[in-house]
Amino acid sequence: MSVSRSIIRSKSMDKIYNHQELEEKIYELWETSGAFTPKIDKKKKPFTIIMPPSNANGDLHVGHARFVTIEDVLTRYNRMRGIPALWLPGTDHAGIETQYVFEKELQKNGKSRFDYNKETLYKMIWDFTMKYKGSTEDGLRALGASCDWSRNTFTLDPKIISIVYKTFKRLYDEGLVYRGERIVNFCPRCGTSYSQLEVDSVERDDNLYFLDYNLIEIATTRPETIFADVAIAVNANDSRYRKLIGKKAKIPLVNREVPIIEDSLVDIKFGTGALKITPGHDALDFEIGQKHKLQVVSVIDSAGRMTNTPEKYIGMKAQAARDEVIKDLGAAGKIKKVSKLHHVVGLCYRDKSVLEPLLSKQWFIKVEPLAKSALTAINKKEVAFNVPRFEKIAKHWLKNLKDWNISRQIVWGIRIPAYRCDKCFEWTITNGPRPDKCSFCGHEILTQDADTFDTWFSSGQWPYATLKSGRKGDFEYFYPTSVMETAYDILPFWVIRMIMLGLYETGTVPFKVVLLHGLVRDKDGQKISKSKGNVIDPIEMAKKYGADALRMGVIWGSLVENDIALSEDNIKGQRNFANKIWNIARFVLQNETLIDKSKPETSGASDDDKWIKNELKITTSKVTRLLNKYRLNEAAEELYDFVWHKFADIYIEKAKQRRPRAQKTLEYVLRESLKLLHPFMPFVTENIWSLGFARNKEDLLISTSWPK
Ligand SMILES: [Zn+2]
Ligand SMILES: [Zn+2]
Repeated sequence: MSVSRSIIRSKSMDKIYNHQELEEKIYELWETSGAFTPKIDKKKKPFTIIMPPSNANGDLHVGHARFVTIEDVLTRYNRMRGIPALWLPGTDHAGIETQYVFEKELQKNGKSRFDYNKETLYKMIWDFTMKYKGSTEDGLRALGASCDWSRNTFTLDPKIISIVYKTFKRLYDEGLVYRGERIVNFCPRCGTSYSQLEVDSVERDDNLYFLDYNLIEIATTRPETIFADVAIAVNANDSRYRKLIGKKAKIPLVNREVPIIEDSLVDIKFGTGALKITPGHDALDFEIGQKHKLQVVSVIDSAGRMTNTPEKYIGMKAQAARDEVIKDLGAAGKIKKVSKLHHVVGLCYRDKSVLEPLLSKQWFIKVEPLAKSALTAINKKEVAFNVPRFEKIAKHWLKNLKDWNISRQIVWGIRIPAYRCDKCFEWTITNGPRPDKCSFCGHEILTQDADTFDTWFSSGQWPYATLKSGRKGDFEYFYPTSVMETAYDILPFWVIRMIMLGLYETGTVPFKVVLLHGLVRDKDGQKISKSKGNVIDPIEMAKKYGADALRMGVIWGSLVENDIALSEDNIKGQRNFANKIWNIARFVLQNETLIDKSKPETSGASDDDKWIKNELKITTSKVTRLLNKYRLNEAAEELYDFVWHKFADIYIEKAKQRRPRAQKTLEYVLRESLKLLHPFMPFVTENIWSLGFARNKEDLLISTSWPK
């Protein structure tokens, strides 16, 4: 290598690194070079990450910056190792999440979802989503995401919907989907049911009312549901009540008689030991009711209002009715005692309103066989978790999943391809298209179910759906994918469902490694939220300090799996590092110093060259090893220490006295450092590369080989 040649070729470098001017241009350079699109090479095993599709309903937050950085570092690193690396981007329509955000927008204008018909509402949410989809993608570009935009996918792309339909049909044909009447968690505000996983369980204190049912006393936190009681159950082992079994109790206020029955599920120690059985409004009661063939009475409707009660309560909201019933019970002398009960209540995970357990007909997936094969795959290490505790959590959920309610009573989503016969009321399931006739009686008038799929039912199919719907050969080459990298809080929602559905539909696990990352918190460790006023806007930070600085900020100081504390100062500190790299490059690449200050070599100086080259070797092997183990922050910290404290502080300081003899080593170490730094700080490194090392315009650092 000739020292002078590269130096003469290098353009002059500004004194200060101006990221704002350069980042967009560099991104364009990468994108147009085709570097993001891997070349399928059957002789090589690919590296594949399917990007968790971002919810297209709001701006990027700092959590996005974290996942983008982690996945981009891994992709760039593997690409530089000569591996065909695919990072496939996508966007999620995000069902109820998006509809909820959209309804809040409507609210600002004094409107609600009830002001529009379903078609109009769907169209409005579509437009809203498209707006955010575009800005999300711009955000990813601003952060430097080297994902393959030519394979960009949206969960509502027709090709994805068609795969989702096929899976549903197959599950149905194989008896794994059924229409069931069950107690589901229903949010009266959102107007939809949820699955077990979408319930926010919170502990709180409520009043426990001890009520006089004539022969017997019961205890309840929900006196407004007494009108739906169909029995009182006691445990046969409870000597207090044994003699009452078979007799009748009387519901207060309405004086309706209900039988006193015996059931082993009744907890003797709870309340009075006698349980009012309300199958219409409680899952356990429903189970007991089914066993004893009891009737189901509903007194709260899907809007959360009272129905089938004495006239005065009808139409009241459940909470208001509770207050009124308590007043009336008190006046009638039927409240024997009130105590406090510390218990768990289910809240809507979106709006935190109390969920009503309601009896309703929904589509369910029989989860047990799917969960079983997922558990086997995890036990056989076909899917490996980066952290043992996440594997434990996954297994816990897989062992405890109930049948999955996949229908949602919202418009924003993939409409369920189930058509009900107007004559025999049976359901015909298809791959999507409306059937010509009922598959049970041949009648030709059918009505499609108005419900849409749980958004996790479609995103649970994401790894194979994106690849199967992509280019010819993509699925065969890139599946199963290498790493699933996502936030740990969606492990039960998403990760285990991808494993279950992936195994079911393809016979193979969808990814080999599950890499879960922790949350980004503020500098005091507080969760970041608008209401706390501690939001860090990633796009603003990238503008202010450079995307490289932000990227370093969101991985610095904490392993991927742990939460990270971030402040603007951290990002600023990394901006200083970017400037440091720039200044090192200016020193190395610019020739004024070389011409003016060249001095004869002093004896022993080549020891310095040996030393820094050896340090570089050690750093390279450490960083490589750490990246292979997904210990990203440690790799970044090693590099920082090497570049700043060894290369700049020690070697360069000494080299100032012995140029030009040190020049060859200076250039060599800088060039190799740029390669090592590139996955973390792609913009500044690419820029320096183009100024000092690129042989021609096509020679990009992104496509250069990783140091051996
Ligand atoms: Zn809700
Ligand atoms: Zn029919």
